[in-house]
Order: sequence, then C-alpha cells, then structure tokens
Amino acid sequence: MSLIVQKFGGTSVADTDKIKAAARKAVRAHQNGHQVVMVVSAMGKNTDMLVGMAHEVCEKPKAREMDMLLSTGEQVSVALMAMAIHSLGFKAVSLTGGQIGIKTDSTHTKARIESISTERMKRLLDDGNIVIAAGFQGIDDGLNITTLGRGGSDTTAVALAAVLQADACEIYTDVDGVFTTDPRVLPEARKTHQVRYDEMLELASLGAGVMHSRSIEFAKKFDVPIHVRSSLSDSPGSLIWDQSEAPDRPVTGAAVTRDEARISLINIPDKPGVSYELFSNIANAHVTVDMIVQNAALDGNANISFTVPKDELPVTLDAVKETLDGFGQGTITSCDNVSKISVVGTGMAQQTGVANMMFESLVEANINMEMITTSEIKISALISRDDMLNALRAVHDRFDLHSKPTTVKTLDLDHFTHQRSADALEVVARLQGVGMEALFIDDINLDESQASVAVFGVPNRQGIAALIFDRIAAAGIFVDMIVQSYPIEQEAVIGFTVPKSDLDRAIEVTEAVAMELGCQKVTSRRDIDKLSVSGIGLRSHTGVAIGMFKALSNAGINIQIMNTSEVRVNVIVDGEDGGRALKCLRAAFAEAIH
Ligand code: ADP
Ligand code: ASP
Ligand code: MG
Repeated sequence: MSLIVQKFGGTSVADTDKIKAAARKAVRAHQNGHQVVMVVSAMGKNTDMLVGMAHEVCEKPKAREMDMLLSTGEQVSVALMAMAIHSLGFKAVSLTGGQIGIKTDSTHTKARIESISTERMKRLLDDGNIVIAAGFQGIDDGLNITTLGRGGSDTTAVALAAVLQADACEIYTDVDGVFTTDPRVLPEARKTHQVRYDEMLELASLGAGVMHSRSIEFAKKFDVPIHVRSSLSDSPGSLIWDQSEAPDRPVTGAAVTRDEARISLINIPDKPGVSYELFSNIANAHVTVDMIVQNAALDGNANISFTVPKDELPVTLDAVKETLDGFGQGTITSCDNVSKISVVGTGMAQQTGVANMMFESLVEANINMEMITTSEIKISALISRDDMLNALRAVHDRFDLHSKPTTVKTLDLDHFTHQRSADALEVVARLQGVGMEALFIDDINLDESQASVAVFGVPNRQGIAALIFDRIAAAGIFVDMIVQSYPIEQEAVIGFTVPKSDLDRAIEVTEAVAMELGCQKVTSRRDIDKLSVSGIGLRSHTGVAIGMFKALSNAGINIQIMNTSEVRVNVIVDGEDGGRALKCLRAAFAEAIH
C-alpha cells in the first residue's frame, strides 16, 4: 500500500472550516487507497501571537520555555484535525513530536532532528488510522520539548517522508507552488513546474520563504521529491526534485533577503588566522554570516566585509570590536539598511555571460551594487533596501522569468511516484544513528584549472561591474567566482577567476576596460588552486567555513578568495599551497565525509 505525507501550513488550517477542508483532502487520499500521515502547523498566526505574549511577560524569554510555549500551537491543530476526521467517519490519531519519537538535539528554538522512530506511526497506519503529526517539534534526551525553528513544519514533513519511505510528500500551502519569486511581492512571478533540490536550497536560504531550507536538505540527502501545492484547489503545483532534464534558461528564480546589515573591517592584518579568529568569535555569538568578501589592500593590510541579518548587527558588532582590540589595528564601518538580491539556477554553471546580464539589469534600473558574491548556481548583490523591489523586478524581467520555459516536460504530479535509490535508503538507515541533520560532506577536491584577476581602485558608481563582465563574456570567457568588495574610501576591488587557458585574454580585456573606467590597477595570479568542500547543509552548519579557516590557518595558508553556498564552500589559495591545503581539509572534515 502506498504512503503519502501531506503537510498543511498555518494559513491552510487558519480556522475550523479550513481544518475541515484539510481533513477532507486527507480522507480522500485515504479512500483512494493510500496510507496518510498529515503534518500540521499551528493555526494561522498563532505562533506569532505566542511569541508576542512571551515578550509581553519577559524581555528575554528563555529558549526552553519558548519551545514549551510555541509547541502548543501545533498541539491545538493536530487535536482539532483528528476530531474533524472522526466526524467524517474515519479513524485518526494525533501525535506530538515527542509521542512520535522525533529525537532532537537540545538547541532550543532551532533544534536539529537526530532520529525518528517509525514504529508507532506504522502500527497506527496499519490499523487503518490517518496519523496526524504535530509539525515543528521534537524532544531531546532529557525529555524537554524542542522546536526546529520558524517554518520548521516543512522539515518535519520531509523528515517523516524520508523515514517512512513515503511514495509522495505533499506540502499544501497558500500559493499554487514554488514561483519564480514571491508572487505576493511580484505579481508577474510565475509558477515553476519543476525545481531542483540545489536550486530550492539556495532559493529557500536566500529568502524564498515558501519552504524551510532545512526541509530541502532532508529532501536532497534522502531523495524525497516534494510536491508544493495549494490547499485551496486541487490543481497540481511544483515538484522539487533532482530531475535530470537540463533547464532551458540559466536562471530558475530570484529572491530577496530584505533585512540585512553590512559590516566592513578596514586595515586589519593580512595574514593566516585573522579570518578564523574573526568568524569564530562571531559564530560564538550564534550569528550566521553571509556574503564574505575579503581582499588584500595594496598597502599590505586587508579589508573584509560581510553581511549578517539586521537584527543581529548589535551582537555581531560587539564580537567584532573585541576581535579588533585583539589585533591592535583596524576600523569598523557598518550599515543596516541594505538588502540582498539573488538569482539562482543550475543553468548558469554552463553558460557565459549570466552575471553581466544581472548586473546590467540593475544598472538599467539605476541601482548600485555595494557588494557582489557568487557561487556555481547563484549570484547575489547587496543593494540599498529602498531599491529592493525595483531590483527584483529588473532581474525577474531580464531573465524572462515571467514567460513559460519551453523545454520542461510536464509531469502528471497527481500520479507521480518516485522509486528511492538504494543509496538514499542506506543513508536514512545510517544517519538515523549519527544524527539525520548531521553535517554531510561528500567531496573535498582541488581544482588547478583556474587563475584569478583583480581590479583595484574601482570607482564607486554603478555600471562598472556590468561593463567588465560584459566585455569578458563578449570575449567568450567563462567566469567562475566573482567578488566585489564594499567600496572603502569610494573605491572597491573586483576579483574573479577564469580558466588558466583564458587568463592572458582576460587580462587584456580587463586592462582595457579598467583604463576606460579610471580604475587604479589590474593584477593577476596564474598559480592559484581552488579547493572545494561539497555536501549538504554547509551554510546552516556554520562550522564548515570556520573549520576551513581554522585548518588552513593552522597550516599557515592564506585564503585569497572564498565563496559559500548551501552545497559548497570554495577557497582560492596560492598554487604552492594547494596540495597541503587539500590534505589538511580532508583531515579536518574526516568525520563528516560520507
Ligand atoms: P505555510 O504557512 O503554508 O508554511 P508560508 O507562509 O511559510 O506558508 O509560505 C508560503 C508563502 O511563501 C507564500 O504565501 C509566499 O508569499 C511566500 N513565498 C516566498 N517566496 C516564494 C516563492 N518563490 N514561491 C512561492 N511562494 C513564495
Ligand atoms: N508554527 C511554526 C511557525 O509558525 C512552524 C510552521 O508553521 O512551520 O513558524
Ligand atoms: Mg512555511
């Protein structure tokens, strides 16, 4: 008998009529011969309301008590859902996270799932029940209730689908599927038919709130396709899976992270160990850093800029000030009215000229990019918050995201089932022992094919990056990593990598355009190596970047450029250090390699 997991989000169970409608959907699937596990969120804005009440009675509520409080939202929904199903004449049993046996670590308010026991659910299903699981919660070793982080019911659903080897995992929500960008922000956004795991991982962590990003880590790790669809209709939605079909356009979606803050450190020492000290101090303050751009200044010191969530700016600044006191040099600037705009697509890994298309669209919309970072499948730019909507519209339009893709095959999502690979099943069994959300590294490798170019003294005005990368693309050169630092004293540094075989032409093109634009100087390095650590959860496990900084600084190796994504962290080091760097990274991550 096939098994379906159906998850209903807050708006889909916001009142008792909606609960009854969700109950009817589950009953219909049951009548069609499926075993059904429902995962249910708290009703409507109930979780927000509980958070508000907590802050009314206490300025800084303890995380353990927050979990005790917030988990009640889901408990209300599951009980009502079971009653609604009973009144339709069917058997149903509601269960809390603890009753299911969702074991988590003890990191209250953002606990990670360690293991899930399937016994009780299977027994109830075999007995003809619809099982109704409370989303977003679990229990730790000390029997304390934990929660998985806001939006975490998606993660509960995909995790249950993985351990129960469900035939389908349906996420019912208040939109028709995964759109090219948030349809509530940009009405011209279009529903996608299929999205790859890696794309959804990036989109979710870059602001596409439709899915909790850790749920996609589960989906990818355990090979669980997810059907995101509307709870208001029966029409098919979007399928998130590793479809093999090549996309027909470089960009699949765009997202904005609204509330970001930027911090720049100016004139800090340029030597191994500095980044490690800085970012481990910030991590100790439980802050996740993004968009790190460090560049050697011409005077032998370094500048580093990075972004953090706006709320976390004050604690980050405290940690940064303390670190700089230790260095005995350096100054700090920061700003909290910036947003990050990103485009994502596996197609861009094969195509030249994608970055400059994004940059040009922003220039045409009169928007200045304060920083740029890229990974294999995404490009992000930091912009002023006032420009956010215009920027989103500009890139969405430029990549034609409102029009229908031509080559994507339409699947019959109502009858879609997926045979999980033997590998995926083996991974479920193995990780149930060590922690289902444990860091998962599948490869650490060394790429000797790249060379780097840096443009110093880039004037702080719009259009410069667009022109440089337009010329590089016109020369048919594929650019791999791009970073643009925050302009210090009105001058930025743009760094990028190209294949060694194209370096001479890249220098020629860059020097010509740099002269035209009044940049100060172009430098290049042929003898560099790129090291990549790839896996799943590399950003949510903040320890990865720090582990890399630590391992390399212990070996006295300087990082020249770095970029991070959900599935990969890349660093560029001197070519002489490549072999040693590979060895020390393999040793540092030996335990997490699968
Ligand atoms: P639920 O309560 O069902 O979990 P959420 O509010 O968490 O629902 O997620 C659905 C919302 O995600 C939508 O209402 C939409 O505004 C937002 N969203 C953001 N980005 C996207 C996107 N790319 N596609 C679809 N919805 C998106
Ligand atoms: N109720 C929780 C929240 O609002 C979990 C969820 O809805 O996924 O964040
Ligand atoms: Mg949600």
